[in-house]
Amino acid sequence: MRFDVIWRGGRIATLDPRLGGLGVIEEGAVAARDGRVAFVGPLSELPGAGDAAEVVNVEGRWITPGLIDCHTHIVHAGNRAHEFELRLAGASYEEIARAGGGIASTVRATRLATEDELVATALPRLDRLIAEGVTTLEVKSGYGLERETEFRMLRAARRLALDRHVRVRTSYLGAHAWPPGESDRAGYLDEVCATIRELGESGLADAVDAFCEGIAFSVVETTQVFEAARAAGLPVKLHADQLSDLGGAALAARYGSLSADHLEYTSEGGAAAMAAAGTVAVLLPGAYYFIRETRLPPVGAFRRHAVPIAIATDCNPGSSPLTSLLLAMNMAATLFRLTVDEIIAGTTRVAAQALGISDEVGTIVPGKWCDLAIWDIERPAELVYRMGYNPLWRRVLAGRTDPV
Ligand SMILES: [Zn+2]
Repeated sequence: MRFDVIWRGGRIATLDPRLGGLGVIEEGAVAARDGRVAFVGPLSELPGAGDAAEVVNVEGRWITPGLIDCHTHIVHAGNRAHEFELRLAGASYEEIARAGGGIASTVRATRLATEDELVATALPRLDRLIAEGVTTLEVKSGYGLERETEFRMLRAARRLALDRHVRVRTSYLGAHAWPPGESDRAGYLDEVCATIRELGESGLADAVDAFCEGIAFSVVETTQVFEAARAAGLPVKLHADQLSDLGGAALAARYGSLSADHLEYTSEGGAAAMAAAGTVAVLLPGAYYFIRETRLPPVGAFRRHAVPIAIATDCNPGSSPLTSLLLAMNMAATLFRLTVDEIIAGTTRVAAQALGISDEVGTIVPGKWCDLAIWDIERPAELVYRMGYNPLWRRVLAGRTDPV
């Protein structure tokens, strides 16, 4: 057999940048061999007269690359629904903090959870993403804020890819917040840097992330974390300029960061620095919506400087309890006014770039993994236009279709 599987009879948005736009092929075919794309193009050019173990007629449906959620905190214990309820009833932030709310409550619950419990509570959230065609997601640690729990979160994240048919990339986010009650900031930073050295050897983390903000880590402190990552040979990412402009985007760019994320307060200069460094802007409309932010990320500046833009759920219990990438895509349009092409690229090709795995996934081109989402839609805009509607028909990971 020349191919393992051929999908034919559909329209393909390859996201191949050489084709422009969504890289559309009408009356196309995709063929997989050994899990990878072996052919993509017009059906009329398919070699070998359809010689394959299996041929699937997708009957006019659209095929895109499998979706990629490039920023999640999906592994965590507990939730903050009660805190949300209290806030809606008029409680102040101080009252909620005094009642043990905020990130401290998630840290407390996560420290108490076993690895099995962390996996078990993450799976229902992951299943919602998978059901929408997500084939790759990033998972951050950052609710342990001490070595043991951070490692446990990363191990739980890796296990998600064993329990489900999905690719997982992990980021160590020890510099997410200061541990509750911590007064020795220098001591905690030393612990984070020591953990990064260990992670560089263990292979448990694919990247190092930090939260650079007035309420979290300063530019100087973040620089120390990034230096440790550089010494350990790990790429960096950054939660930057979410609540104020500390110059986080420019700092991320100086370290060749894969991405800078949030970015509501990023300046024109920050956008220019990101463009020069090839740093992806990851926009998180779920968090913008949930905390009722009013400052929009500088999409115009990103476009002027040709900064690549990705979209993600930021799935987390505090500021974005969102487990729908399709809804994040709709919010990127309604709230941030991104175009359909920008949003679909931002959850496929550019999202892969934000994770440093562009050579493997994110577009449908020969040689990459054959990760596909096949949709019951008339046009790609439907993926962005609808709210709370899931048109996924089939999901394919490494050439293998999920059982129906
Ligand atoms: Zn985040």
